[in-house]
Amino acid sequence: MLTEEQLEIRQLAREFAQGEIRPHVEAWDAARWIPEELFEKLAELGFLGMRIPEPYGGLAFDASTYLTVLEAMAWGDASVALSLSIHNGPVCRVILEHGTDGQKEQWLPLMATGQALAAFALSEEEAGSDPGALECRARPAGDGWVLDGSKAWVTNGDRAGLLLVFARTGQGTEGISAFLVPGNASGIQTEGRERTLGLSASETVSLRFQEVELPGEALLGEVGGGYGMAMDALIIGRLGVAAQALGIGQAAFEHAISYAGEREQFGRPLNRFGAIQEKLAGMAIRLAQARALTLEVAGRVDGGETASTGLPVSLKSSAAMAKVAASEAAMWVADEAVQIFGGYGYMRDYPVERLMRDAKGTEIYEGANEVLRWIVARDTVKESGTGD
Ligand SMILES: Cc1cc2nc3c(=O)[nH]c(=O)nc-3n(C[C@H](O)[C@H](O)[C@H](O)COP(=O)(O)OP(=O)(O)OC[C@H]3O[C@@H](n4cnc5c(N)ncnc54)[C@H](O)[C@@H]3O)c2cc1C
Repeated sequence: MLTEEQLEIRQLAREFAQGEIRPHVEAWDAARWIPEELFEKLAELGFLGMRIPEPYGGLAFDASTYLTVLEAMAWGDASVALSLSIHNGPVCRVILEHGTDGQKEQWLPLMATGQALAAFALSEEEAGSDPGALECRARPAGDGWVLDGSKAWVTNGDRAGLLLVFARTGQGTEGISAFLVPGNASGIQTEGRERTLGLSASETVSLRFQEVELPGEALLGEVGGGYGMAMDALIIGRLGVAAQALGIGQAAFEHAISYAGEREQFGRPLNRFGAIQEKLAGMAIRLAQARALTLEVAGRVDGGETASTGLPVSLKSSAAMAKVAASEAAMWVADEAVQIFGGYGYMRDYPVERLMRDAKGTEIYEGANEVLRWIVARDTVKESGTGD
């Protein structure tokens, strides 16, 4: 259950999304761009420091509050929420867990004020679901490091002030290390802005690193500790994707409810027909189920217990379950919303086609759902004692 304070914060986030985001979504989608002023406004509200401790200028939200705000942002525009999620979620988590005092003091205040929007550069063209196969390299040079290689599909990549880059320093998954790289470091090239199906306003870019010189302090944690950090960071990352999906689904549901009340056929509003009522009920149920699971797992991140998974599966699996449940709910709800809008739903003039395009992304990024099901299956089989 959300507390009084969480409900107030959610209301504030909803009002911000209603006033500052929703009126511009179609324009940003067409321009494939979120204006800088929006990030300045988000920073003023503290939404670029949601998980950052107060001494570094952040709001220190617990996971449930953070995800509630993220859902409201995605209800406004999923591209904005994706950008916020990468910044506040996995990047912030890794710095908080593994950064030295110096690294925290250098980066967290810049992140909280929006002077450094953060990106998470793990995937490569040949290493998506299997990041353990990544090839971008960091070699020791004097007291520092030199970075060489490429990264694919980097959200926020173009405007990032801080890139969290995972690079090979040895063999296997134990030969991957994490580096904090200033976005303006010499030798970084943006190779291309991807033309995506949805989430068009979000920047998805390829990055090329050519002999990028880094100081010794750029290394985060231990040499070879990067893979474990990335997997840990993806717990809050995947819960963030679940919240994005819930915001997309909620928006599609609300549009469908309104439309079904206004549009008349056969002399009656659509919402009087059983087939449409069944769809609306299904949408409400799928979203409620996915939100309940997401907030329960968030509670577990905040130190609580979980009951609904049936088996004592790991937090990693629980977050994977929430991401799969919410993204598939969003995709299904958006599809049903397009169907309820009929021919108009298929037109760019109405919002539900964009929501359907946006929803698809949540089934893919930060672990495609097939791979997440694999993680859940391995964990549940192990916990049940019927395999290892
Ligand atoms: C909009 C967007 C934003 C992104 N942002 C970022 C970002 O900021 N940082 C970043 O590092 N990455 C980012 N990504 C990359 C994303 O995380 C990867 O696309 C994703 O992990 C899948 O990898 P892949 O595309 O290489 O697919 P592949 O790994 O090639 O998989 C293709 C298909 O095969 C399935 N598959 C793969 N392995 C298995 C298996 N063992 N069992 C069953 N099925 C399997 C997958 O589920 C998928 O359906 C982004 C991607 C998108 C689309």
